[in-house]
Amino acid sequence: MAFKTDIEIARAAQKKPIQEIGAKLGIPTEALLPYGHDKAKIGQDFITGLKDRPNGKLILVTAINPTPAGEGKTTTTVGLGDGLNRIGKKAAICIREASLGPNFGMKGGAAGGGYAQVVPMEDMNLHFTGDFHAITSAHNLLSAMIDNHIYWGNALGIDERRVVWRRVMDMNDRALRDMVVSLGGVANGFPRQTGFDITVASEVMAILCLASDLADLERRLGDMIVAYTRDKTPIYCRDIKADGAMTVLLKDAMQPNLVQTLENNPAFVHGGPFANIAHGCNSVIATRTALKLADFVVTEAGFGADLGAEKFMNIKCRKAGLAPDAVVIVATVRAMKMNGGVAKADLGAENVAAVQKGCANLGRHIENVKGFGVPVVVGINHFAGDTEAEIAAVKEYVAALGSEAILCRHWAEGGAGIEDLARRVADLAEGGSADFRTLYPDEMGLMDKIETIATRIYRAGSVTADASVRAQLKAWEDAGYGNLPVCMAKTQYSFSTDPNLRGAPEGHTIPVREVRLSAGAGFVVAICGEIMTMPGLPKVPASETIRLNDAGLIEGLF
Ligand code: ADP
Ligand code: MG
Repeated sequence: MAFKTDIEIARAAQKKPIQEIGAKLGIPTEALLPYGHDKAKIGQDFITGLKDRPNGKLILVTAINPTPAGEGKTTTTVGLGDGLNRIGKKAAICIREASLGPNFGMKGGAAGGGYAQVVPMEDMNLHFTGDFHAITSAHNLLSAMIDNHIYWGNALGIDERRVVWRRVMDMNDRALRDMVVSLGGVANGFPRQTGFDITVASEVMAILCLASDLADLERRLGDMIVAYTRDKTPIYCRDIKADGAMTVLLKDAMQPNLVQTLENNPAFVHGGPFANIAHGCNSVIATRTALKLADFVVTEAGFGADLGAEKFMNIKCRKAGLAPDAVVIVATVRAMKMNGGVAKADLGAENVAAVQKGCANLGRHIENVKGFGVPVVVGINHFAGDTEAEIAAVKEYVAALGSEAILCRHWAEGGAGIEDLARRVADLAEGGSADFRTLYPDEMGLMDKIETIATRIYRAGSVTADASVRAQLKAWEDAGYGNLPVCMAKTQYSFSTDPNLRGAPEGHTIPVREVRLSAGAGFVVAICGEIMTMPGLPKVPASETIRLNDAGLIEGLF
């Protein structure tokens, strides 16, 4: 049987006007700011007026460590939203916006897949409602104002060698990673080394996703550290006086976007911070708005549960005062096999023993998530080649841990294929057994926070860090940043820092190579391994085959 591609399925969608989707959540037409017929922003005044309403139940979708076999977190988030609606619940979905750059590199969008997608997926994966362009502009306005400040006499005494604020673009372009700017003579300023990051890696993106309103956004933008003086005194965005104009550029981007699933259910698509150097979650404003309007809100955290769910709990929920009512961990038979040592080329053959072995990875994530005091259920995202015996092996393993694994066929069947999981999730969330707690208190020292995450979540034996890293953390504590949470930047492929170490390793060493302060976003980034903030394109980028056909339709995008 030939499967339809994601874009073919999306194109055949029977979309409803966005006003009808808004009406499902009780959003009046005048509170919707339409971008065409099938996308709208939700007006800030309407959002402000919701603040005294009770919250619905919050469901987090996370996963095992990603493997090249694919897990399908977004697909499952979308499917579960449709499934909950099918069993009669008023449910909404909250996911991130897509970054433009990677779409032209390797195939793979951010709108889900198969019969569990949000539409219009082409728009969502391209310019959408312009939020990322606004973030790019706001970020680069500050960059320009810093160099301009230096040019006009540098009253703040910025050390040109210590300007930490770079520039951003929403493109995979390795040529821009490191460069010298202001070349060409006196009229062009003072030459200095800098570079570009991809827009989603900007602190402005992280701030947009954590800010509660425009006033909070402006305050956080002002708090960002952009440079240091010769005696290492920080210079803030506020000192450059860019925070006001940046807020103006971001005022529309702060309003959440509403679209729909293939089954015409509401989806909030808003924000898209990098899941490694930032927290990787849908915006706080979108999640909060959805919770006021729906009885169930299903949202996704980037990467595996060791990174994504940990940051969702310890950063997003802590900062936004949210508490998840249930967590779904997505697993696939294929990924269990890969965790059990099977190579990607051999995934087609049945191998129950490898599935059983690989389940150790799933088991570790289940234990970790339960540690946050939230009930867990496993969703097995069904792939066409999975065998009965392999599926049974996953179910048995999970049952032995006192949890349940439920087979889901939403990719092939839409919401109808995931009703069992939807019922279980609704029961868990309504059962009220969640007793959410973060992993560490605000007052814990920064190095202790890193060690707590490393030992309790990654099950490392030790954490190593140079004296300079420890001294930096101490200096930030002395400067009043000690109560910030820590944002771990580590490979998503393993509990360790070795991407090839699958399964459930323990006793390994986590080296903290560098620490960065995101003072506006409100976290300290601990970098454990190589972290790329400007991706490159592959040898044969997808963009070579993307085109408009004679009917005016996009070809080659997914
Ligand atoms: P994640 O959010 O975990 O990165 P996605 O949900 O975006 O993953 O899915 C990645 C890709 O895998 C998508 O192209 C999707 O169509 C595909 N996919 C997801 N689930 C299945 C499935 N059950 N069978 C086949 N392909 C799937
Ligand atoms: Mg995803």
